[in-house]
Amino acid sequence: MIFDAHVHFFGREFYAFQTTLVAREDPEVIFGRIRAGGFEIPGADAKAHAARWIAELDRNRVDRAVIFASSPNEVEVVGAAVKSYPRRLYPYALVNPKAAAQVELLDKLQSQFHFKGILLFPALHEFSMQSPEAERVIKLAEKHRMVVFVHCGKLRIPVRKLIGLSADFPAERSRPRDLEAVANAHPKARFVVPHFGSGWFEETMALGNACANVYVDTSGSNGWILEHDPPLALTEVFKTARDVFGIDRILYGSDSGVFPGGYRGDIMQAQQSTMAAAGFTDDDRRAVMGFNLGRLLEI
Ligand SMILES: [Zn+2]
Repeated sequence: MIFDAHVHFFGREFYAFQTTLVAREDPEVIFGRIRAGGFEIPGADAKAHAARWIAELDRNRVDRAVIFASSPNEVEVVGAAVKSYPRRLYPYALVNPKAAAQVELLDKLQSQFHFKGILLFPALHEFSMQSPEAERVIKLAEKHRMVVFVHCGKLRIPVRKLIGLSADFPAERSRPRDLEAVANAHPKARFVVPHFGSGWFEETMALGNACANVYVDTSGSNGWILEHDPPLALTEVFKTARDVFGIDRILYGSDSGVFPGGYRGDIMQAQQSTMAAAGFTDDDRRAVMGFNLGRLLEI
């Protein structure tokens, strides 16, 4: 069973949201620039976009995926669009904890859409995981048994560069160590740190050692390993993560999202090979590729 912990829906609303960040320009002109940069802007029918993701999962023999609403205006749209696929697509919703209305809306939508997780981006929205605003979101996650996904480390949103915004957010703004006291104060909440901490590898390992309720996802190409001092091999990253977190708290993710690329089957293959090279047994690989996530989401 393959269950991907990290796929972005990235429907038309996600790109439309980016256009709202650029002042006084015609959205269609901005869409043109995004298209020229190689991104496809999905059509207005979000259900058709969900069906396209299902076709991508089928083509790559992926059973299930968590699917992210990655901008505030996408939350309701994604919740509704994936409802037809209750055993294939499991939605997570982004909120900016500093926008109280977004947090309240998610609470209200929950009875309808059953989001399985909340996405937090401290670097993007400039907040601390130790703030009262973040605390409120963690309480909401506990209330609805949602996973709290916290993007730590280097954050890059490539589409922003095409429309004249900065694509990179400094890693210093979101450190795994900021999560330790918070995770320990909420032993029943479950936290996921993507990309092995995206540059904060040692801190992520220390966090996993200190908090049994923190998981890592393996998603994307993990390009941060080349900037690490000294550069790390991905096999070493997987081995160390298994030693520290144990096999049960590592979740496979592809970080798919953008069309026309669609599902990143190449990442999936590369990660399977990396695990084989790192000496993971077949049982270990099954755990990482899907079993752990099924257990985490209580499916
Ligand atoms: Zn991602």
